[in-house]
Amino acid sequence: MKPPFKRIVVVGGGAAGWMTATALATALKGGTVELVESEEIGIVGVGEATFPSIRNFHRLLGIDEAEFLRATNGTYKLGIQFCDWRARGESYFHTFGDFGALSGSHAVWGQHHRLGEAGLGALGEQCLPSVMASQGRFALPGENDRYDYAYHFDAALYAAFLRELGERRGVRRTEGRIVDVARRADGGVDRLTLADGRVVAGDLYIDCSGFASLLLGRTLGEPFVDFSHWLPVDRAWACPTERIGTELTPYTRATALEAGWAWRIPLQNRTGNGHVFASRHIDEDRVRAQLLQQLDGPALAEPRLLRFQTGHRKRAWVHNVVALGLSGGFLEPLESTSIFLVQWGLGRLIDLLLSGAPFTEQVVADYNGEMGRRFARVRDFIILHYCLSARRDSALWRAMATMELPETLAFKLHAWRQAGALHQYDLEGFDATSWLAIHTGMGHWPERADPSLGDVERAVALRGLQWRRECIATAVAAMPKHEAYLRGMLGGRER
Ligand SMILES: Cc1cc2nc3c(=O)[nH]c(=O)nc-3n(C[C@H](O)[C@H](O)[C@H](O)COP(=O)(O)OP(=O)(O)OC[C@H]3O[C@@H](n4cnc5c(N)ncnc54)[C@H](O)[C@@H]3O)c2cc1C
Repeated sequence: MKPPFKRIVVVGGGAAGWMTATALATALKGGTVELVESEEIGIVGVGEATFPSIRNFHRLLGIDEAEFLRATNGTYKLGIQFCDWRARGESYFHTFGDFGALSGSHAVWGQHHRLGEAGLGALGEQCLPSVMASQGRFALPGENDRYDYAYHFDAALYAAFLRELGERRGVRRTEGRIVDVARRADGGVDRLTLADGRVVAGDLYIDCSGFASLLLGRTLGEPFVDFSHWLPVDRAWACPTERIGTELTPYTRATALEAGWAWRIPLQNRTGNGHVFASRHIDEDRVRAQLLQQLDGPALAEPRLLRFQTGHRKRAWVHNVVALGLSGGFLEPLESTSIFLVQWGLGRLIDLLLSGAPFTEQVVADYNGEMGRRFARVRDFIILHYCLSARRDSALWRAMATMELPETLAFKLHAWRQAGALHQYDLEGFDATSWLAIHTGMGHWPERADPSLGDVERAVALRGLQWRRECIATAVAAMPKHEAYLRGMLGGRER
């Protein structure tokens, strides 16, 4: 199989499909990209929180931030507030910012905390975006600011926004339900037949057909690597609510519950709510009732149940089929990583297509190996949130406390506990500061203090912490509230 491909067919018009088709049409100027989607089947339509890398994707497509936010009812996201994860009544932020130099203020703070030092303040006060989030404030980072941000948006409007852009850039859209997939002699896909008899054919097929995994799973039979023994949640009820004067928080809230967790995602016009749970530990109807009870505004629709399995297809690329999005795998939405994984796979694919190099078996095997490791790294990061919990109040949390961890994660936990080291493997989705935020947020500190910290005089260390805390407090006090900032951005006014 050798590029350039004359025709690329994208199967599916959800966020993954339109991200893929639009990016391919932008990158491969002149290449033919056709997208097939079925309005009758529809899209998953959840997936409202993202990761900062989405901004690179938008930059590459030349998307204007204000235009995108307007079209998708989008808001800014500084990170996630985790409530009740370590213990009921406790909360912390994982925002896209640091606590000072990695070996610096968090370690100093931890040392003095261990020694019972009074007046340290919370560790979160050492992290600029966490303080912004806790006060509901937002401003874009300046040139010297070391924090990042992402977005919340309406997933269905996002797919529509990308569709409009993609069609302008030459993507051909075909509406219809695929009822048959014909194979080539070598096992790859030859052509697709739609319910009305039309035929769509290409050289390369990108499977973005969602949980159906129409080409990679159903047609080619690629096995599924199951992660549900580590990540047992497998259902979600989702229900949007009206915004009734609630503050527009610049963060997602994830609240740990009896057999899973609940999300709360603020959009301009409404709030996204959902409850993700492990069906082996709780009854569906009980969760539905709990979700409806906890809504902070009138429901805009009946709750919708989504079923999934955590894991991924063993190989993402087989013959002339590459899966992106839910058709390739899903980990669970706790850290909003699905769109990030689409973006990563898509970026690698476009690089390969643009390089013009032949798609040898080695190239395909490398892509598959990297994609598999990407999933495993994100999996470990998500498990971290569960396995550090001190909760034992229900079957899910008791199971999480005793389960055997993946070796890669067990090693990281050991390195942190023994030496305060934040070990990083290749192809990590989350950098060391994110790992640090979860360890410390969950109250998980190294067993011994770093001996080199003894060299820093106590008074100097405490002054340093106080200075950073005060600088952050002053900077944040001058920032506008998230809603005011957003309105300024959408109105195109000078801020
Ligand atoms: C509960 C939950 C919460 C989530 N939260 C987040 C989040 O916060 N952040 C995040 O990044 N991700 C999240 N996700 C994942 C996110 O929803 C998906 O990654 C994203 O929407 C992309 O989905 P998709 O395009 O792969 O699939 P879909 O949206 O399901 O699209 C599949 C497409 O394939 C088409 N199709 C299927 N079969 C056929 C056929 N036979 N013929 C023709 N067309 C067909 C469908 O019509 C549709 O257009 C969440 C997922 C779930 C389940």
